[in-house]
Amino acid sequence: MSKRPWGYQNRSERPEPQWELDPQTQAVRAGLARSGFGETSEALYLTSGFTYSSAEEAADSFIDQTDHFVYGRFGNPTVEMFEKRLAAIEGAQYCVATGSGMSAMFASIASVVQAGDRVVASAAMFSSCHVVLTEILPKWGIQVELVSGNNPEVWAKALSQKTSIVFIESPSNPLMEIVDISMVSELAHKVGALVIVDNVMASPVLQKPLTLGADVVMYSATKHIDGQGRVLAGAVLGSFEYIHERLIPFIRHTGPSLSPFNAWVLVKSLETMQMRVERMNQSAQILAQFLEARPEIASVRYPGLESHPEHELAMRQMNKMGGTTIGIEFNGGKKEVFSFLDGLQIIDISNNLGDSKSLITHPASTTHRRLSQETLVEMGITNSVVRLSVGLEHVDDLLHDLTQAFKS
Ligand SMILES: *Cc1c(COP(=O)(O)O)cnc(C)c1O
Repeated sequence: MSKRPWGYQNRSERPEPQWELDPQTQAVRAGLARSGFGETSEALYLTSGFTYSSAEEAADSFIDQTDHFVYGRFGNPTVEMFEKRLAAIEGAQYCVATGSGMSAMFASIASVVQAGDRVVASAAMFSSCHVVLTEILPKWGIQVELVSGNNPEVWAKALSQKTSIVFIESPSNPLMEIVDISMVSELAHKVGALVIVDNVMASPVLQKPLTLGADVVMYSATKHIDGQGRVLAGAVLGSFEYIHERLIPFIRHTGPSLSPFNAWVLVKSLETMQMRVERMNQSAQILAQFLEARPEIASVRYPGLESHPEHELAMRQMNKMGGTTIGIEFNGGKKEVFSFLDGLQIIDISNNLGDSKSLITHPASTTHRRLSQETLVEMGITNSVVRLSVGLEHVDDLLHDLTQAFKS
């Protein structure tokens, strides 16, 4: 097997680059495994099973004596191209792809914990992650504590006893709260905890949690990684030890595998991810500044604004960018917010995010409606709050659309 980051079956003499490749080059090249046909683009291996040239090769494949694929639930060449490419971009040793972001989140934790263990998490998070942590895991005897803010004393208190996992979502969905990943990782490691970061809102373009001290990164690839609203997918990235000793045995037998077709879509999406996410960030910064100055708006939550309570930390931690999503609090309640949403002519009402199309949602009545009133108040998700995910339309048209919708 070649150690090279991409395949050379038809140019086997080509030397391997001896310098460190930029993530954008990895995004186009890493993981590419060409078949004997020498195709330019990555091939789609839409197959559930694999054949062997002999009974002996089959037997060897099952005891990992060869790197022959054995079954679609365990691995697939197209899925592996996606995994290797994302790992190269992230700078992680290994990546395992899953069928959705939630299966990645669940497997990243469930593959580690057992009854009696303790999990500590940052309080503001995506609602399904909140359900996994506060409703599903406690049923299995796992103790979960939620911590809010960036106060090292508050975190140190929560992490003053033995803890298995610390789970951080930063920035948080929908209000863009920022957790200091380095500070929390340092405290977590003192009590032997594994630090898992939900990096969905930042994407690999803005934030590299492993370089900030975290141990594991998880994605919903449904968001910025596909970024064009087509497929559901997830990924978990980490060290050889974590992936091979914990995650893979769990995933292989519980079965949240990614479809090869979806993996093929994502392999091509990764090629343009950096350009897409950078442009979305630029537009989001302009729109956040515009919104902050509007009389109809009470407050704007965007890490790229100086008014954001963790602006400096965000700029340090997120590659000097504010993200693609804006939390907007209106002056006025549900009635005013709904009439604004209904007045938009370009931006769609939709609860997805990280898409090339700009999307806006009212979390209290949609994505976060399952949470209790108390939790919503704690998270600051009132009826006056909307979340705008900024897409790839020209920013002038988005400004125009918002301006005309304010008039309604
Ligand atoms: C969307 C999302 C998830 C879940 O991903 P799916 O692909 O929808 O399963 C997890 N965390 C965050 C922050 C998200 O935005």
